[in-house]
Amino acid sequence: MPALFVGHGSPMNAITANEWTRAWRDIGSTMPRPKAILSISAHWLTQNGLLVTAGKNPKMTYDMGGFPAELYQQQYPAPGNPALAEDIETTVQTKIPIHGDTAWGFDHGTWVVLKHMFPKADIPVIQLSLDYSQPPSFHYELARLLRPLRDKGVLILGSGNIVHNLRVMNWQMPDTGYDWAIEMNEKFKSLIASGDHASLTRYEALGKAAMLSVPTPEHYLPLIYTLGLKEENESVAFFNDKTLMGSVSMTSLKIV
Ligand code: ZN
Repeated sequence: MPALFVGHGSPMNAITANEWTRAWRDIGSTMPRPKAILSISAHWLTQNGLLVTAGKNPKMTYDMGGFPAELYQQQYPAPGNPALAEDIETTVQTKIPIHGDTAWGFDHGTWVVLKHMFPKADIPVIQLSLDYSQPPSFHYELARLLRPLRDKGVLILGSGNIVHNLRVMNWQMPDTGYDWAIEMNEKFKSLIASGDHASLTRYEALGKAAMLSVPTPEHYLPLIYTLGLKEENESVAFFNDKTLMGSVSMTSLKIV
């Protein structure tokens, strides 16, 4: 099963047909059908431990503010997969405490993308939280523990944005990025393509443009999972490779 990192961008992508959502549809319709999907979203953050959705029918979480009412009526009624959640708990608890959860469900990092990628919502989905108290190297090692799931037909989806700085987002720049954002998008891509995961997990050392691009790590860390899932002999294909609104990149990748 391929592994994916998807730049999810605005929650409005849930109800919009555009170049990003068309690419998500293409990816979903051309890959082997997953037995289940494990989503690691920028929007479920925990401290000193992990949560995994353990219910049979996870609820919708509308974890965004100030959008049209239509967005808060969106449904993605995919079933959960309690057995897979238990599997993940067993695998992960050797490294960090983890508990099953029925309160969170699917947040917009998950459902905005999956509504387009697998619109029938007939594949079981579970979500794993991001432990925000851990360094990137921890997330990379955790992803390596999850690798065997790929052989069992589980699609692991990291959902964030590689370049993501909402404080300086610029509505006058709908189709391009600031110089530093474009520079870092290219730099990140070249490190990903050359397999330099050590530099990517130590992104703070990449200088000022990196700090502007990743001012807080929650949207970047899902990428670290996707990189940790890559086997030596696999290749990386980029899609939705674009920087917009000054300080957000939609750049996404498929490992296969
Ligand atoms: Zn987001």
